[in-house]
Amino acid sequence: MPVVAFHSSLDSPADWEPALRRHLPDLDWRTDERPGDPAEVQAVLAWKPPPGYFARFPGLRLVVNLGAGADALLGRDDLPAVPISRLNDPGMVRLMTSYVVFAVTRHARDIPAFEAAQRRREWRYIHPRPLDACRVGVLGLGELGAAAALALAAMGYTVRGWSRSPKSLPGIGCLHGEAGLRALLAATDVLVVMLPLTGATRGLLDAGMLALLPRGAALVNVGRGPVVAEAALVEALRSGRLGGATLDVFDREPLPPEHPLWAMENVLITPHIASITVPGEAAPDVAESIRRVLAGRPPLHEVQAGRGY
Ligand code: NDP
Repeated sequence: MPVVAFHSSLDSPADWEPALRRHLPDLDWRTDERPGDPAEVQAVLAWKPPPGYFARFPGLRLVVNLGAGADALLGRDDLPAVPISRLNDPGMVRLMTSYVVFAVTRHARDIPAFEAAQRRREWRYIHPRPLDACRVGVLGLGELGAAAALALAAMGYTVRGWSRSPKSLPGIGCLHGEAGLRALLAATDVLVVMLPLTGATRGLLDAGMLALLPRGAALVNVGRGPVVAEAALVEALRSGRLGGATLDVFDREPLPPEHPLWAMENVLITPHIASITVPGEAAPDVAESIRRVLAGRPPLHEVQAGRGY
């Protein structure tokens, strides 16, 4: 009988328990309110648990990060020496794809200009461009990035993608390495950041990298705020080097009220909602990971601490 403890500041145990029980009928479910004997717990499902949380479980075999980005978990100094698995959730992928398609399309179809014109009661005609004239660059071709890139390509955008290792995706110009990044930036009208936050990606898009984009390009960041140097981003938006941005993630969340980004006409801010976990769709793989670890095998979607994602 798998004994599983749950702690999340975002998700409800009332959503997760039935979802997981469908795939693990003999589940022994523990919460902060009904902890039972912590020594019996074999797996933890967690999103940003408090410091010291894991120490109470001496028999722990698996930590399931209740999200795709594991940076908050890997950045802790109290991690147990057990495998960490991330969610691979088809519902999360669809939500993220919908946000990215919306954000890219908003820029490609000049929607911010029409919104501004409407506020002035002005009939401002801008001739639409064919979608393949819009070159989209997607940084990060993982579970979420690849799906978004493929959806954009299927719509008719010209899509290039960039990843750490070489990749091949139908209809996507796949690049890697620093030269690949520079080439991608130089030929991108809308840049979509879908990278995890790691030692290698923190501050990756600094002033120098942003300057490689064609003047007036737009930026969409749904990965993690610190991948883009925020001061350089603000300056690029102010100077017009960047024409606009759709931002879902920030250095500090919630974004402080005094932050200059709030007041910028060419910026759309959303409060880290590009995607969320859908327990019913993530549960089959979580259950399989628990079964595998209890049978002495590695879990699905294991996070590699060494590479940071
Ligand atoms: P994955 O771990 O599946 O993929 C990460 C991708 O980034 C891979 O293609 C990887 O390359 C690439 N990558 C990592 N490091 C580098 C590097 N140094 N240089 C070049 N490429 C690199 O992540 P997901 O696609 O599932 O998710 C991406 C991120 O989205 C998450 O880490 C999280 O931060 C964010 N996120 C945001 C949400 C929101 O609501 N805003 C919701 C969910 C996630 P390779 O393929 O070679 O390994």
